[in-house]
Amino acid sequence: MDDIHICCPKCKWEPDGQAYWQCSCGCMWDTFSTGARCPDCGRVWEETQCIGHAGGCDKMSPHLDWYKGLDDIIQRLKEEIKERWRVKEYA
Ligand SMILES: [Zn+2]
Ligand SMILES: [Zn+2]
Repeated sequence: MDDIHICCPKCKWEPDGQAYWQCSCGCMWDTFSTGARCPDCGRVWEETQCIGHAGGCDKMSPHLDWYKGLDDIIQRLKEEIKERWRVKEYA
């Protein structure tokens, strides 16, 4: 995973691994640790907000646009995440 870089497509803010994102169920978590899926209720958030109070721009961007790196690695990662999104039940 060293070749993968995660940053906001709009302002280049980089998430630092903290639980900035809140689901409608109330769960707070790091959305990049689960490929945008809430660990509590299993809801998938296809849009990810940049975190203004952590130095970002507060704008929404498609979750998959946050991943940067070598094209083939990123392509594979995005396919993996999309595959996980197709699974309705969270195990
Ligand atoms: Zn949730
Ligand atoms: Zn941003």
